[in-house]
Amino acid sequence: MRTHKIAAIPADGIGQEVIPAGLAVLRALAERCGDFTLDVEHFDWGSDYYRANGRMMPEDGLETLKRFDAIYFGAVGDKDLPDDITLWGLRLKICQGFDQYANIRPTRVLPGLTSPLRAVEPGDIDWVIVRENSEGEYAGHGGRAHRGHPEEIATETAIFTRAGVTRIMRTAFEIAKSRPRRLLTVVTKSNAQKHGMVFWDEIAAEVARDYPTVTWEKELVDAMAARMIQRPGSIDTVVATNLHADILSDLAGAVAGSLGVAPTANLDPSRRYPSMFEPIHGSAFDIAGKGVANPVATFWTATMMLEHLGEPVAGRLLMEAVERVCAAGIRTRDVGGTATTAEVTEAVIAAIKGANL
Ligand code: NAD
Ligand code: MN
Repeated sequence: MRTHKIAAIPADGIGQEVIPAGLAVLRALAERCGDFTLDVEHFDWGSDYYRANGRMMPEDGLETLKRFDAIYFGAVGDKDLPDDITLWGLRLKICQGFDQYANIRPTRVLPGLTSPLRAVEPGDIDWVIVRENSEGEYAGHGGRAHRGHPEEIATETAIFTRAGVTRIMRTAFEIAKSRPRRLLTVVTKSNAQKHGMVFWDEIAAEVARDYPTVTWEKELVDAMAARMIQRPGSIDTVVATNLHADILSDLAGAVAGSLGVAPTANLDPSRRYPSMFEPIHGSAFDIAGKGVANPVATFWTATMMLEHLGEPVAGRLLMEAVERVCAAGIRTRDVGGTATTAEVTEAVIAAIKGANL
């Protein structure tokens, strides 16, 4: 029997609703498959922990997490705390501490869901956005001076390293190579940002030599945003910087129908550290505590976690169950349904057990 050690961190808001839903589904899945178990430990880190302890996670939190095979994460964000405290104090601490340099964001319009794009038919959109997750515009490099004076200044410097760009390109080419279309779009803004982005283009060309079966092309980020709306079927795998891919992947989530169905994985492809799997949405103050959060993004990211853990069969089984439930019209209200989180979860568990829906 294979055992995978999972650290569950629901954190804030609807994270506390969708992660328990995801764990219930994972338990049903392990039972159905019968050849692996998940050894789950829960951590109460987040904004309430901050109110009690003055920090989002314990000082030795990363040390504790190192023992796990994967981290299953909900969302952070609290009405009464600044976002930079909650985000940097927990989620980014894990991403950076564990060098999770590849952020993978798949996008599809699931059966039964409608894209806000009028012309999109099911199957038209099947994208994977690969986001550089460790440097670039979010390297935290910069500062403030002359505070409070008329000449006050703030700088925010983007950092691109040869090692950092090369490894994200390799990850992106590997993913593109593993998909049927073998098409990679390298997104930059090398017309206007003539240092870092030209460097990015050069390294893409270097890495491309090792992937002769992958067709690759360059696209400027603004043109890419338009193309995602106008010619969504022309896109397959996309790689972009931390900032550019952050924006493009929210656009992708919206195109798929709702943020509530968009998953992500923060990977350390070298596997020195545990990788982290999460829905891309935040803590959603407006619906937290109401039991109506869409758990589909959290289920989908669980399929990515299972794949990463070497359980692709279970991953596929879960994704098929989710698709059957969506197609059967058992949907939360953000995607046009009336079901609660619990009803969607029950339906997915029933589908996993092989029931007719
Ligand atoms: P949000 O993603 O929390 O919510 C945006 C909108 O989408 C809301 O109307 C919300 O109700 C809806 N939504 C999100 N997830 C949903 C789901 N699963 N089912 C149904 N509807 C869903 O973004 P926001 O409102 O900008 O941010 C709220 C807080 O979350 C902020 O503190 C922000 O910093 C934080 N945040 C955290 C993360 C993260 O932890 N990765 C990501 C984004 C935002
Ligand atoms: Mn974002």
